Amino acid sequence: MAENKPTREGAHVKNLILGSGPAGLSAALYSARAELSPIVLAGNEYGGQVSLTHIVENYPGFPDAVGGPELTELFKKQAERFGAKVVFDTATDVDFSQRPFWIKTYEKSYLADTLIIATGATPRHLEVPGETEFTGRGVSYCGTCDGFFFKGKDVVVVGGGDSALEEGSFLTRFANKVTVVHRRDELRAGAILQQRAKDNPKMGFIWDTKVNTINGNGAVQHLDLENLKTGKREEFKTDGIFIFIGHTPNTQIFKGHLEMDAGGYIVANRNMETGVPGVFTAGEVSDPHFRQVITSAGMGAAAAIQATRFLEANP
Ligand code: NAP
Repeated sequence: MAENKPTREGAHVKNLILGSGPAGLSAALYSARAELSPIVLAGNEYGGQVSLTHIVENYPGFPDAVGGPELTELFKKQAERFGAKVVFDTATDVDFSQRPFWIKTYEKSYLADTLIIATGATPRHLEVPGETEFTGRGVSYCGTCDGFFFKGKDVVVVGGGDSALEEGSFLTRFANKVTVVHRRDELRAGAILQQRAKDNPKMGFIWDTKVNTINGNGAVQHLDLENLKTGKREEFKTDGIFIFIGHTPNTQIFKGHLEMDAGGYIVANRNMETGVPGVFTAGEVSDPHFRQVITSAGMGAAAAIQATRFLEANP
C-alpha cells in the first residue's frame, strides 16, 4: 500500500465520515450541527445492515415500526438538513501518518482534519443457493430484529458459537421450535450458553451437518441438509433460517494503520478514540457485542462530539 502512495493531495474537509449506516449518519447529524460540514462516503452498502432489514421495531420514536430503508432515508435527510453531504463513493486506501489524514476513494482523494470510521460489519454468509433469494423472506442474520415474525413457527439456527446459542435462545421466546444445525459435534460457544441451550425444551440440535440449499416458494419452506460424517441427506421443513456464523468487520483498508483485535475489529476506547488522535470509530466496526441500530447511532453521535472537541483543541 504505502509504496504506491501518490502525493498527499485531495479535497480538504474538516470531518470525513466513512459509512452510511446508523453510526455514520448519526455522526453526520451531530457533526453537521457542530458546523464541521461533514462529507459522508456512503460505501458499498448504502445504509448498512439496517437497510436490509424489512421492519425495525426496536428503534425508539417509531411506536408503529419503521422500514429499514425508510429509516436510512430519514437519518440521511435529517443530517442533510444541517449541511452534511452524502457522497456515493467508497474509501479504498488511507494514510494516517500525519494530519490531515489522506483518504483515497474510487473517485477522488480527501484530506480530512478528523475522520470517523463507521464502515460496519458484514454478517458472514453461508453462500448456498437460496440464501440471497430468501433474505428477508425467511433468511435472517438478526434474531433481535426478526424473531418476532416467527411467532409459533419452526426455525433453524446455523452456527455453534456464542451468537448462535444466544440468538437461538432468544428466538425460543417466539418460535415453537429452534433447531441448531452445526457442522461439528461440539459447540464453540461458552459453557453457560451451551447448558442453557441444552436445557431449553424448545431447542434441538442437528450435529455434523451442513446446509446445502435453502428452498421455498416466495418464502423459506425447507432446507437440504447433509450429514458430513455419513453423507446422508434430508429435506428439513422450516419456516426460517437464522445464520450466525460470525461477522466480518469492514476494516480491510485500515490494516497496518490502526490497532485491531483478533477478530479484525478496530480497537477504540470508550470515547470512540482509536490509537491515532483525530481518528474515531462508531458502530459495529469496533463493536462485536451490541450490534443494534440504537447503539450504533449513539456511538456515531459520541464520535462526532469527540471529533468536534478534538478540532477545538487542535485547530
Ligand atoms: P464465532 O465464535 O466465530 O462462531 C461462529 C460459528 O459458526 C462457529 O461455531 C463455526 O463453526 C460456525 N461457522 C463458521 N463458518 C461456517 C460455515 N461456513 N458454515 C457453517 N458453520 C460455520 O462467531 P460468533 O458466535 O458470532 O461470536 C463472535 C465473537 O463474539 C466471539 O468472540 C464470541 O465469544 C463473542 N460473542 C459473545 C457473546 C456473549 O458473550 N454473550 C455473544 C455473542 C458473541 P466451528 O465451531 O466449526 O468453527
